[in-house]
Amino acid sequence: MRILAAEDDRVALALLRRTLEKLGHEVETVEDGQAALDTLRTRPFDVLISDRIMPRLCGLDLCRALRALDGPYVYYVMLTAMDSREDMVAGMEAGVDEYLAKPLDPIELRARLIAAERIVGLHRSLVEQRQALERLNHELWEHARIDALTHIGNRQRMEEDLAAMHDRVSRYGHSYAVGLCDVDWFKIYNDTCGHQAGDAALAAVARVLDDETRAGDSVYRYGGEEFLVLLAEQSLASAYIAMQRMCRAVDSLGIAHPGLDPAGVVTISCGISGCSLAEPKSVQELLGEADAALYRAKERGRNRVVCHGWEPG
Ligand code: GH3
Ligand code: MG
Ligand code: MG
Ligand code: MG
Repeated sequence: MRILAAEDDRVALALLRRTLEKLGHEVETVEDGQAALDTLRTRPFDVLISDRIMPRLCGLDLCRALRALDGPYVYYVMLTAMDSREDMVAGMEAGVDEYLAKPLDPIELRARLIAAERIVGLHRSLVEQRQALERLNHELWEHARIDALTHIGNRQRMEEDLAAMHDRVSRYGHSYAVGLCDVDWFKIYNDTCGHQAGDAALAAVARVLDDETRAGDSVYRYGGEEFLVLLAEQSLASAYIAMQRMCRAVDSLGIAHPGLDPAGVVTISCGISGCSLAEPKSVQELLGEADAALYRAKERGRNRVVCHGWEPG
C-alpha cells in the first residue's frame, strides 16, 4: 500500500519507515501535521499513520481535515503516547480508524495494516461500483433520448432542448429558428415500396439531415415522417438557406419513389419559424407557425422551404 507517515520525532519516524518498508509498503514521511495534510491534498495514499502531538497541526485536527477532503478513503492509524481510554475515544471521534499506543509494536502494526488493506479495498470497490452506476445512468439517460429507427434525438430530447433554447431568448436575448420537415408523399412510398423500405428511407433522410446540420444546431425526429431542425442564433434568412441546403441534400440522395406520377425521388418540404426577444412567442406558437409554413410548402408543390412571415427577395 501507499502509506504516509507523519511523526515529529525523527528517530521514531525512521523506525516507522523501516518497519513499513520491510512489510513491503511504499512509504513517504513528513514531520508535522500540516505537511501531512498538504501531501494528502496533492497525492493519493491508502493509509496515513500519524502521531497525535505534532507541530502546526495535531493528529486530531489533521484527521478532521482529512475526513473533510474529497477523494478516495484514507485509512487513518494513530500511533501515540496519549494512550488513555478517553484519548482513544477522542481519536475515534475525530475519524481515526485505528488507535495504537506507543512504543511501536511491529506485529500489532502489521495486523492493523491487514485490516486497513481490506477496508481500503472495500472503499475502492464501492467507488468503482458507484462510477459504473453513474456511467450506466448516463447511458440510459442518453438512450432514452435517441430515436430507435433513425438514431437521432427523439421527441423527448427535442422538447428538452427546445425549452432550454427558448429560455435563452428571454434570459440572454438569444434568437433561434426551427425548421419543421415532412417527407413528401410518404404514404404512397410505403404503399408502393413497403414499410421496411419506408423505414430505411426515413433513416437515410435523418442521416442526411444530421450530416447537413452545423455545429450548435440539432435535428430530431418529431414523429412519424417528420423531423425538426433546431437552428441556434439564426435569422429567418439564414435558416432559409440552411433548410434549402437540407432539402437539396435529401433530393440528391436519389431514393427512388416509383409511386409518383411521373416517378421521382424521395423529397422533403420544410416550414420555418423564428423566435427572438423582438418577437416573443411560446414554443407552441412557434411550432404552430412552422407547421403552417410547412403546409404552405406542401401547397406550393413540395420539395421546398417556406418561412413564416418572411419571403426570400
Ligand atoms: P405529404 O406529402 O402531404 O406529407 O403526404 P404523406 O403521404 O407523406 O403524408 P401522410 O400524413 O398521409 O402519410 C405519412 C405516412 O408516413 C403514413 C405513415 O405510415 C408513414 N410513416 C410514419 N412513420 C413511419 C415509420 O416509422 N415507418 C414507415 N415506414 N412509415 C412511417
Ligand atoms: Mg509528537
Ligand atoms: Mg406528416
Ligand atoms: Mg409527409
